[in-house]
Amino acid sequence: MNECQQTGLARRIARPPAVIGILGGGQLGRMMALAARSMGYGVRVLDPASRCPARVAADGAVTAPFDSVQAARELARQCDVLTYEFENVPAEIVTALEQESWFPQGGEALRISQDRLREKQALREAGFETAAYRPVTSFEDLQEAADEIGLPAILKTCRGGYDGKGQVPLRTGHDLQRLHGTMDAGGHWILEKWVPFQCELSVLVARGSQGETRSFPVVKNVHRSGILHRTTAPAALAPQQEARVQQWAQALAGRLRYVGILAVELFYLKDGTMVANEMAPRPHNSGHWTLDGCSVSQFEQHIRAVTGLPLAEPVVTRPTVMLNVLGQHYAALLAGIDTLPANCFVHIYGKDDVRPGRKMAHINCTGTNAAEARESARLAEELLQMEADHE
Ligand code: AMP
Repeated sequence: MNECQQTGLARRIARPPAVIGILGGGQLGRMMALAARSMGYGVRVLDPASRCPARVAADGAVTAPFDSVQAARELARQCDVLTYEFENVPAEIVTALEQESWFPQGGEALRISQDRLREKQALREAGFETAAYRPVTSFEDLQEAADEIGLPAILKTCRGGYDGKGQVPLRTGHDLQRLHGTMDAGGHWILEKWVPFQCELSVLVARGSQGETRSFPVVKNVHRSGILHRTTAPAALAPQQEARVQQWAQALAGRLRYVGILAVELFYLKDGTMVANEMAPRPHNSGHWTLDGCSVSQFEQHIRAVTGLPLAEPVVTRPTVMLNVLGQHYAALLAGIDTLPANCFVHIYGKDDVRPGRKMAHINCTGTNAAEARESARLAEELLQMEADHE
């Protein structure tokens, strides 16, 4: 352990060149590592892939499966402070890290975000509304739950689903009957009422080691096939609504005694109601715009929080539309990168394996005003042959 200090106020600070350990070496780990390196920190990543996206930005790695407690301990041994970039850190490792290491994000937010039922409960307790939902462990439960909350609804696995995976939309009784005999004994699901949303939003809040919070402005998201396609920042909500969402997100982070960036995804209904869908206790895809459109990026803010540094005040510097570049768009991006509008900023994750649906890069299309940012995004979408959608 070097360069860490415990002050009288229990404010623990990791001063550069302390070493930050990141569990997970995907694109979020890579962008965290890049921020940390530019702030003067050392970085080690734990990932099963030796050529993971974060590896080039780190100055060391532990190459091992995510479920190896021994590997997590080895990472902890090499580092002063630990963070993670994905929610599915096994419970056993979370407990070991909490007990043995400096792990400011803590285990509580992870345990809650790993279980959709507990997550909904936590969102409600913080003040958010959620869709009506029921726990389901069998086909009989499912029928009962559907009778109670009505169709259309979505059946989601309680654990392990992401980017729309592990979800079955149930529009009619026929869809429901088709699940007869397919639900594994011992499984845990949640049946959630379908929300007829007008658009999707997210809010990112940073909570520092002293309990202080800073929110990034609420942004508007468009998903395609369950994967984020585009984020428009800021969403430009009415100030009262903006304040309410930020207050709930800050309350949630506080209740979980969480330190770092916490994201909450929401549905916005025609009548102005906002319904929380889920949370993510880490930097989030819908916060990538902050790399080019905000006074501080979500990644730097996260590193500030977990190292005990003061949080920066996020100020929008340029309206930005962020586009995710998936495997199917990647060749067109590389071929046409020189023809993108000059106010588009490309961030490539360095993944070797290009597959449809895999997040390969993102483009921050900026402008001096929102219309200019939208126009840049339209041109970029055209170039990448992303078929038009309707906002
Ligand atoms: P999730 O895996 O919960 O993030 O869901 C992925 C996407 O599915 C969301 O971003 C929505 O577009 C859609 N979705 C999930 N839950 C609901 C719901 N209750 N009502 C309507 N759409 C939903």
